[in-house]
Amino acid sequence: MKKILILLLALPLAAMAQPGDDAAVIKKISDEILRNGRAYELLYQLTKQVGGRLAGSPQFAKAIQWGKTAMEKNGADNVFLQECMVPHWVRGGQDKAVIIEVDKKKTSRELDVLALGNSLGSGTVTAEVLAVADFAELERRKDEVKGKIVYYNAGFDPTNVKPFISYGQTGIYRRSGPSRAAKYGAVGVMIRSLTESAANDPHTGAMAYMDSFPKIPAIAVGPRDADEVWILSRKSNFTMSMTTNGHFLPDTIGYNVVAELKGTEFPGQFITVGGHLDSWDVNEGASDDGTGVVHTIEIMRALQAIGYKPKHTIRFVLFANEENGLRGGTKYAEEAKAKGEKHIFALESDAGGFTPRGFSVGVNKEQMAKLQSWLPLLSPYGTEEFTNGGGGADVSPLMSLGTPVSELGPDQQRYFDLHHARSDVFEKVNKRELLLGAVNMAALIYLVDKYGL
Ligand SMILES: [Zn+2]
Repeated sequence: MKKILILLLALPLAAMAQPGDDAAVIKKISDEILRNGRAYELLYQLTKQVGGRLAGSPQFAKAIQWGKTAMEKNGADNVFLQECMVPHWVRGGQDKAVIIEVDKKKTSRELDVLALGNSLGSGTVTAEVLAVADFAELERRKDEVKGKIVYYNAGFDPTNVKPFISYGQTGIYRRSGPSRAAKYGAVGVMIRSLTESAANDPHTGAMAYMDSFPKIPAIAVGPRDADEVWILSRKSNFTMSMTTNGHFLPDTIGYNVVAELKGTEFPGQFITVGGHLDSWDVNEGASDDGTGVVHTIEIMRALQAIGYKPKHTIRFVLFANEENGLRGGTKYAEEAKAKGEKHIFALESDAGGFTPRGFSVGVNKEQMAKLQSWLPLLSPYGTEEFTNGGGGADVSPLMSLGTPVSELGPDQQRYFDLHHARSDVFEKVNKRELLLGAVNMAALIYLVDKYGL
């Protein structure tokens, strides 16, 4: 009996909360967002008036100004810019790949390709192609690699119901495929785009060279062309010429755009909500990560609009450089550490603006139990689960400092159709789905602010 009493006393505050009150506040937040939400029109401005905004580019500088103004206009107590150096990679021209010879016969079959971000162009490279299914085949055939362009056909595993799992499994071909082929003397690399889309759009994204091997050019090919290349490689020898021009200009000054709603009880304790302001250069960066940017601003606007006074200081952060350097998220955590700030929770939106399904989290067991106890309050708005998958990339440096983190987990089935492809444009985002994402995030922020984690 005594034991039970102690257990009861030890129950998290959440258990003693008045669910009716919380449900009413969350309903109020939801009504405000669904009725008066500005996320969709903010997304229109960011995608159509600013456009693609790779770190270091003039559009990126414009995005910072846009973000600062949008935060100011939508109710921030204060807005400040947090300076950080960002990389400045440029594509430098038109990426091209043409199959010019099949079994010694001249031909001209152009493939739809994009150079991988951070890759260094070498003008035009012409060589025979060695197509491999995966790294295991590369290793088996390493003696054949020298002087060739290596093509990796590794694609998403269609049996994974969650495409983010496939991305986790296959992303390594984009990031380190080039150097692993350069190790054996390859002169160029082409990867199958990281998508299951039925369209032929190629998907770019960041790669990184290992310093010990030559920095060879690297491209991604559209999925339909990838299928053709693979079939061709099984029956013929062929030669391809690929043209790339990517290079780095000196690092430039970038900024995290940070807005605050000041805490009334614990102003020195922080809850962070954010998305990343940069995008790739080939699209409008609507779903990656315009939706995260406007979720962030919308949550701030809505909390202000209903007159919510947070206990903790809530920071709304548009991170400077996620795609090809993570400099913004890194800088934010460095500053937090240097200033001895106490960060109790950090939430990112960087998985698109699709119908919310839940949250991925990086928390301990007790925190997970607390989050689970809130499901009845969140499920009417779409949150069905908390899964242990960590937070978004930008909040991962905070997680390293011990902050519990999370990322909005919208429906995943269409995200990789658009991810880093030309098709990632405003028109692919649905207004209702976008607003519902903000509702679920704002509700979670409210609960963490009220009860802690
Ligand atoms: Zn992103």
